[in-house]
Amino acid sequence: MGLACGLFACSTVVNAEIHQAHVHGEAELMLVLEHNKLAIEITTPAANLVGFEYQASTKQEKQAVAKAQAYLRQANKVFTLTGGDCHLHHSHADFSSVLTSHDQHHDDHDKHAHDKQTHEKHSDHHKEHEKHAHSDHKAHSDQHGEVTASYEFECNNASELTAITVNLFSQFSALYKINASWISTTQQGANVLTKNQAQLRLNR
Ligand SMILES: [Zn+2]
Repeated sequence: MGLACGLFACSTVVNAEIHQAHVHGEAELMLVLEHNKLAIEITTPAANLVGFEYQASTKQEKQAVAKAQAYLRQANKVFTLTGGDCHLHHSHADFSSVLTSHDQHHDDHDKHAHDKQTHEKHSDHHKEHEKHAHSDHKAHSDQHGEVTASYEFECNNASELTAITVNLFSQFSALYKINASWISTTQQGANVLTKNQAQLRLNR
């Protein structure tokens, strides 16, 4: 097996293909095990996690995003690992498809508020910003949004890692199927996970 591109780089290519599928109710999971490093990436339509796929604007919508984001960051709740003695090194949940960038824009505006030289530019920018915001909202009605959660573990005994249970189904009732695939330095496999069979076995 040629490893010229490295497993992590290869998995990105695989993921790019998988990600084209946007099916409500389904998610994609890619697991890469390379030496003592375990990487898991989950991509799902935002609707599965928060019930919508536009920028959250109401208090309830923002709370739904915050709740889902907080849950996904807790790898020990999302996954149950069997064997391997793995510890979370890093986790990230990208909800940018349903989070407004408004607040960030306003921060920028405040910073530039006392800069006389850029003042005119700034107001132009603000108009532009409003224009963008307006067209964004229009576009949202027929736009889909993804959420990606990624995790990196370090395992003390990676060869003993035999299975991973994904605990998302009980937390997110709109999700009913995860198309999971995994790859290690010597093996690979795939499995469809459901509420009744949420365990991905690494048959090595
Ligand atoms: Zn969608």
